[in-house]
Amino acid sequence: MSREAGTSRRAGPGGGGRDRVDDVVILGGGAAGLSLAHWLTRTGTTALTVVEAPDGPLRPAERTWCSWDDGPGEFEEAVTASWPRMRVRAPDGGVVEAAPAPLRYRMLRSQDFERLVHARLAAHPAARVLRATAHTVRNVPEGAEVRCATGDGRTLTLRGRYVFDSRPPPGLPPSRTTLFQHFRGWFVRTASPRFDTGVADLMDFRVPQPRHGLAFGYVLPLGPERALVEYTEFSRTPLTTAAYDEALRHYTGNVLRLGPLGVDSTEQGVIPMTDARFPRRVGPAVFRIGAAGGATRPATGYTFAAVQRQSRAIAAALRDGAAHVPRPHARRALAMDAVLLRALDTGRIDGPEFFTGLFRRVPMERLLRFLDGRSTPWEEFGIGLRTPVGPMLRTAAELPFLPRRAASRPEESRT
Ligand SMILES: Cc1cc2nc3c(=O)[nH]c(=O)nc-3n(C[C@H](O)[C@H](O)[C@H](O)COP(=O)(O)OP(=O)(O)OC[C@H]3O[C@@H](n4cnc5c(N)ncnc54)[C@H](O)[C@@H]3O)c2cc1C
Repeated sequence: MSREAGTSRRAGPGGGGRDRVDDVVILGGGAAGLSLAHWLTRTGTTALTVVEAPDGPLRPAERTWCSWDDGPGEFEEAVTASWPRMRVRAPDGGVVEAAPAPLRYRMLRSQDFERLVHARLAAHPAARVLRATAHTVRNVPEGAEVRCATGDGRTLTLRGRYVFDSRPPPGLPPSRTTLFQHFRGWFVRTASPRFDTGVADLMDFRVPQPRHGLAFGYVLPLGPERALVEYTEFSRTPLTTAAYDEALRHYTGNVLRLGPLGVDSTEQGVIPMTDARFPRRVGPAVFRIGAAGGATRPATGYTFAAVQRQSRAIAAALRDGAAHVPRPHARRALAMDAVLLRALDTGRIDGPEFFTGLFRRVPMERLLRFLDGRSTPWEEFGIGLRTPVGPMLRTAAELPFLPRRAASRPEESRT
């Protein structure tokens, strides 16, 4: 039976008894939780519950998820827009543009994704979304037990053979380098057609660069007069909303010269870019998934594509009788990203030059495949040679001697 409610199949006395036994309990119904639920229903898991927090402070603000892929995927009905061409602009305005076919850049809005997956789960005979706050997870024989509280104050205990937890942990694991990709975007409407709807601007470095880290503009046209325009930094500390707005006014007014514009809505976020090691198995039957399990690619902040790969693999393993959560990113990729983060953080490499240089020297399709962990070691060696080899090697040599230290996670804005 599928439903979205704080109800139970076998509620115990006083609402505190065992609610139901599932094959899988998923904590958190964001990108990772709902993706895994989707893939599990596709591969035949018999009973699953997604526990998603009721509306309130635990629920993240609506957001857009973008990634590149090579064909209509599982969630095509929820895709808002897609672009066959992608562009990077150097600080001097130099343009690198390509159509990296078969890859396209696609945007999903979180509310559309949620609606689509909820509808699919509702049509599944043994899947449900439960609106409740998950509190504790306890190992029990043959699985794990989750204590939850519903919005109306009832306590429920769920038992699953496996529990997959995507709730954001309170802090980040210790790291050698932690930067934050922090940004604010405006959904703008211009007075006249200003946007080329065939091309997404991934990084536009024609913005003033901060003293530490790097900054760029990001433009996703949604129509000739509509676009999501963002100002993004990779650095140690997020800005105030007023500072992002100032940067966006400069970018839309002086760089893009969009003329008079209206702002329909905004999105804002902070994504940790870190070489921390995220544990994946935290109990005999309990696993962390999504950003909480290290799905964010440290060098880029992209997470959604890795979440899809991992969800598909978990579902396939469970279908075959194994509980296996593969690494979201290969060790080799993480090692290269650790060098890049440190080189950026120390200022040994110039961020805008580094990224525009890579896009200039490496075919875009190959570079995007590399960022998705789908390149060969030989291709990766070639990509390494197209980076500033001296500073990167020096950084690689010092990394093993650096201690891992705790870094705190800044608050994510809900605006
Ligand atoms: C504004 C923004 C834009 C982004 N854009 C992109 C992008 O374009 N491309 C990309 O690849 N990545 C992007 N990311 C990074 C990443 O994809 C997202 O952060 C993504 O939402 C991570 O998915 P997740 O499932 O790990 O976490 P979330 O989507 O945050 O899901 C966690 C879920 O857990 C629930 N929860 C929390 N506590 C509890 C509890 N106690 N009980 C029950 N439920 C609970 C929350 O309500 C939430 O639904 C973006 C991030 C942000 C912040």
